[in-house]
Amino acid sequence: MEKSVDAIFFAAHADDIELACGGTIVNMIRAGRRAGIVDLTRGEMGTRGTPQLRLRESRAAAKILGATFREQLDFGDGGLRTGRDEELQIIEIVRRWRPQIVFAPWPDERHPDHARAGRLIPEATFYAGLRKLKTRGEAHRPQAVVYYLQNYLPPLSFVIDVTDTWEMKMKAIHAYKSQFFNAKSKEPRTFIAEARFLDMIEARGKHFGALIGARYGEAFVTKQPPRIDDVFAAYRGREVR
Ligand SMILES: [Zn+2]
Repeated sequence: MEKSVDAIFFAAHADDIELACGGTIVNMIRAGRRAGIVDLTRGEMGTRGTPQLRLRESRAAAKILGATFREQLDFGDGGLRTGRDEELQIIEIVRRWRPQIVFAPWPDERHPDHARAGRLIPEATFYAGLRKLKTRGEAHRPQAVVYYLQNYLPPLSFVIDVTDTWEMKMKAIHAYKSQFFNAKSKEPRTFIAEARFLDMIEARGKHFGALIGARYGEAFVTKQPPRIDDVFAAYRGREVR
């Protein structure tokens, strides 16, 4: 059997993970954990670039982050399918890699692909633990599904300090040369290709960081509260100075 990973980060589109939680992945890898990334679509509806180019860019980004694997599925960009067949593909991935934690988009997101992925992933993650559901791989149920944030801002469950890994996150984002601001690009202009989009990512990282007394942070939502073993450590850095 292949070696397992500690976490799988599922996303509707390549680059969603880098933008929302690239620093968290690098944090994990530096702590000796293993993490994989699964993109549910090929990004064929994107205004800029092609699916082939975006696949190459996403592989380069995964390398920068230090992911154990990055897999791309084909559930349909701009109309993400969530039928039984798609569910079974996710179940097989969860059973093969046996993660402790699965990351998914918040199911009430603005982009319907994100919202659909945010429902499909936790449901498939639950079904992966049913012994009588026969697919490739043995039953496995991760301990938790953690939601990362993209556009909307639901009440936050926790923030991870990514001050030390922010630079790597931005490096991974810049691996998507066709998608984000690049003064030399001749491709059509889009919202995410404007310089101010990356300014917004920077500002959000600083805002989430400020909430926990860190320079940069990435925020998450969970339906089950995380267990805190040391409440003092949890609020470290918030002292009045
Ligand atoms: Zn997306």
